[in-house]
Amino acid sequence: MSTFLGMPVTAPSGVGNLRGDRTFPEAAHDALADGQLRRNLRHATTTIRGKSGRVIAELPDWQELRTAGSAIKASVMARLPELLERLEERVVAAGGVVHWAADANEANAIVTDLVRATGSERVIKVKSMATQEIGLNEALEAAGIQPVETDLAELIVQLGEDKPSHILVPAIHRNRSEIREIFLRAMPGVDPGLTDDPPVLAAAARKYLRETFLSTRVAVSGANFAIAETGTLAVVESEGNGRMCLTLPDTLITVMGLEKVVPTWQDLEVFLQLLPRASTGERMNPYTTMWTGVTPGDGPQSFHLVLLDNGRSAVLADRAGRAALHCIRCSACLNVCPVYERTGGHAYGSVYPGPIGAVLSPQLTGVEDNASLPYASSLCGACFDACPVKIDIPSMLVHLRDKAPHSRMERAVMRAAAYTMNHPRLYARAQRAAKLARIAGRRGRGLPPPLSGWTTARDLPEPPEQTFRDWWARR
Ligand code: SF4
Repeated sequence: MSTFLGMPVTAPSGVGNLRGDRTFPEAAHDALADGQLRRNLRHATTTIRGKSGRVIAELPDWQELRTAGSAIKASVMARLPELLERLEERVVAAGGVVHWAADANEANAIVTDLVRATGSERVIKVKSMATQEIGLNEALEAAGIQPVETDLAELIVQLGEDKPSHILVPAIHRNRSEIREIFLRAMPGVDPGLTDDPPVLAAAARKYLRETFLSTRVAVSGANFAIAETGTLAVVESEGNGRMCLTLPDTLITVMGLEKVVPTWQDLEVFLQLLPRASTGERMNPYTTMWTGVTPGDGPQSFHLVLLDNGRSAVLADRAGRAALHCIRCSACLNVCPVYERTGGHAYGSVYPGPIGAVLSPQLTGVEDNASLPYASSLCGACFDACPVKIDIPSMLVHLRDKAPHSRMERAVMRAAAYTMNHPRLYARAQRAAKLARIAGRRGRGLPPPLSGWTTARDLPEPPEQTFRDWWARR
């Protein structure tokens, strides 16, 4: 029997967190006015960059590892249906149940029904981008089920009724005094004498979470990797909260994007070297938890794997854009991006911020729903250099800019420019006209209306005093 992944449709609107209320330039304008946000971001991204750079420099074969990671991901995309079928077969053979979810609505309904069937009114959660993408917390709350985030930064975001702004450090936009205020306001049973000393804040979260771990029977997780050859799932994390969620409850429900599958354990070895060094700047992840189905008397006795499409088949169908599915969510591209460092993650409107968000979100939703994101970049190429699986984000941004809807005026101007550049005499006349504009005093003032929008945020290059043609003619 062959697996039917469905027609390549984009992620539905009205559910999940892939679309913002405003365009990137509108949201970035407000973010740029927030000095505290910029200070927090600069400090955090500079620290992570430094740490990561030091441990990457220890590996003489880092570039070979990047090449291997990229090749494995390309091969996975080329045979995704076959690998997913293999994964399903192995998970079922090991006592798990596999569910296929075409989109966010289906995935939310599957998870909600599974939790309801257990009778539990609360679930503990391991940090998961896939469940944020589909808006699972909102769906569970609507069904009267309380989701509790157990990653410290996710907990801060949840208690603050906020949105994550970084893939790896979701509360990167918060400093410790803001976190103290959030805990005092929203954490059940917190000590009113709480200070903003980081160990004190961590201890308060630990106390609250320990009680929750021990009294909740259902957990929801994402997955960093799934190994097709044995049906094994893997979650990597730094705090140990994931290990608690994945081992203590009776029921474990894992929501995983289709692209997370890898063929073999040998392939996993490559990513377990790449991911920690590129993300947290560690040589290996403090906690790597792996499980295969269910084991009688040990860990959750009921395991469900929800395989999520939600636009991924549409991304896969675009040969020039599909490499966005290679992403291992390390966030290195965010930490080196000059645009992200100034605007922060909220400006992107999607749960996936930064350079990878600028290419992944528009593809998952359809470019017209996130048309401003491919422009949220200076195309400096720092993201490409930093990416541990060599995703060529700049080329993809240009590809998506081409697919994004353009105004009639812009299309007419581009057609006229192309025509002019294809006709040497006309081009020479245009150059002379540009020189005249310089003499007429437009220098430094941008283009005149109706083209002025182009130069409100860009410098208009000054025409040289002498063109190449002039220079050539004189000789
Ligand atoms: S695109 Fe590359 S650098 Fe950015 S989060 Fe994904 S794997 Fe990391």
